Amino acid sequence: MSQEPSEKSLKKMWKFSEKYAEKTGTSFHPVDGVTESVVKGLAANIDEIGRPLCPCRFYPDKQEEIKHRTWVCACEDMKVYKYCHCLLFVNEEGMPITEYLPEGHEGLATYGVVKDPTPDKGRESKHKAEEREKERLERPS
Ligand code: SF4
Repeated sequence: MSQEPSEKSLKKMWKFSEKYAEKTGTSFHPVDGVTESVVKGLAANIDEIGRPLCPCRFYPDKQEEIKHRTWVCACEDMKVYKYCHCLLFVNEEGMPITEYLPEGHEGLATYGVVKDPTPDKGRESKHKAEEREKERLERPS
């Protein structure tokens, strides 16, 4: 990221990240700098477009993207499957939780099955898992 985000947005995203990690029973990454760079990226997107769009993806049009909410933090993958591909919300070893991901998801291919240490927390949109899987199967390959 070329420009430093504002103090205000940084503070906001640190607060959100701490609260959301607590709510979902996830941890911050044990390697120094990982969490900081994701939080910075989220804060930079608030400054740029007004929403914490996921910083680990490329968007042809950020303004268009925020209309869908899919990749506004916490993104759909996190809310439905508790999977954070940016490694902001992970287990204590720094691994993203993948056990709820549907077959064929890139997260499973990359990390294998990583169990959720706190299954009673998070996944506020888990009811959407079935719906999303249906959509995925209907999509032409
Ligand atoms: S992958 Fe999702 S939960 Fe993780 S930082 Fe990006 S938007 Fe947030």
